[in-house]
Amino acid sequence: VERVFSGVQPTGNLHLGNYLGAIKRFVELQKTHDCIYCVVDLHAITVWQDPEELRRHIREVTAAFIACGIDPKAHIVFNQSQVSGHAELAWIFNCVARMGWLNRMTQFKEKAGKDRENASVGLFAYPDLMAADILLYRATHVPVGEDQKQHLELTRDIAMKFNNDFSASIAANGHADGYFPLTEPLIAGPATRVMSLRDGAKKMSKSDPSDFSRINLTDDADAIATKVRRAKTDPEPLPSEEEGLKGRPEADNLVGIFAALADSSKSAVLADYGNAQFSTFKGALVDLAVAKLGPIGAEMQRLMGDLSAIDAILADGAGRARVIADETIRQVKDIVGLVRS
Ligand code: ATP
Ligand code: MG
Repeated sequence: VERVFSGVQPTGNLHLGNYLGAIKRFVELQKTHDCIYCVVDLHAITVWQDPEELRRHIREVTAAFIACGIDPKAHIVFNQSQVSGHAELAWIFNCVARMGWLNRMTQFKEKAGKDRENASVGLFAYPDLMAADILLYRATHVPVGEDQKQHLELTRDIAMKFNNDFSASIAANGHADGYFPLTEPLIAGPATRVMSLRDGAKKMSKSDPSDFSRINLTDDADAIATKVRRAKTDPEPLPSEEEGLKGRPEADNLVGIFAALADSSKSAVLADYGNAQFSTFKGALVDLAVAKLGPIGAEMQRLMGDLSAIDAILADGAGRARVIADETIRQVKDIVGLVRS
C-alpha cells in the first residue's frame, strides 16, 4: 500500500487554508492509503513559541485532526518531538543538502524577512527536517498546499542525492536501488492556495497579524459572517465562466473557497452564481462555511475538554510511528557507516 505522510505546525489559529489545502485532503486519503499525520512541533519552534501556548496548540491541532475526521486508530496521529528519528535523520540530511539548495527556498526568505541575520538556524534548515519527516516513513505521497511545492522538490533532491552518494553502501546492505522513494506531492482541487481575505496577493496564514485575514476553524457563525462580508472584492458582479476570474484574485479566491467547501468546482459554482452580485454570493458562502465549519469547531472544543485523552492518542500514535522510524534509522546508520549497538 502507498504511504501518505503530512504535517501541520502547532503555531496557532488553524484556518480555512489549512483545512481546504491540507486537512480535508488528509481525511479523504484515509480511504485509499496508510496515513501518518503529524503535529510538527519541532518545525513550530523555528520561530519563537511561548511554551504554554505551544503545549496548547499541539493539543489543538490534534483535536482539529480528529474533529475533521481523521481516525487515529486506523491511521497514525502523533507529535513529531516524541519520535527522535525525525531530528536524527534531519541531521544526516543537513549533511546531504547543499547550502545553495536551501538558499533558494522562498519560504525562508518570506519568514526571515529583511532581518535575515537574526533568523534562527532552524528556520533555514527547516526543509531538511521536513524531508526527514517524510522519508523517515519512506512515504510515497504528501498532501500539502501549493506553498509547500518547493519543499517537496527539495525532498526529492535530498532523496536522490542520498541514493546516489551511498549507492554502493545501499547495495552492500542488501537494499534495492533507490533506498529513499522520490515522494510525490498531492496538490489538487480548487483551493490549493487559499488567499488572505484582506489581500488577494497574500496566502491565508496562521501568522498574519490580522484576524480578519483568515477564517479560523474555531470561529463561530457571527465571526465567519463578519469576516466574509468584510472580505475584499472588486466592484464587478461574478463572471459566468472560470476564464473571467483571471486578474480578479479576490473573486477567484472566494469562488475557490466555495467550490472546495461544496466539493464542487469553480466552473460549477460560476454556473450557479455567474452575474450575481458579491452581496448575494457572500451570503451563500457564509451559510456554506458555517454549515461545514460549525460542527468542526464544536467538536474541537469538546475534545479540548479532555486533554489527557488527547495526550493518550498522541502517545499511542508515537509508539506506532517509532516502530517504523527506528527501522529506518537503523538502516540509514548502516548505510552511512555509523556504528550502532
Ligand atoms: P505558518 O504561517 O505558521 O507557516 P501555515 O498557515 O502556513 O502556518 P502550516 O502548518 O505551515 O500552516 O501548513 C500546514 C498545511 O497547510 C500545509 O500543507 C500547507 O501547505 C497548508 N496551507 C497553509 N496555508 C495554506 C493556504 N493559504 N492555502 C492552502 N493550503 C495552505
Ligand atoms: Mg506554513
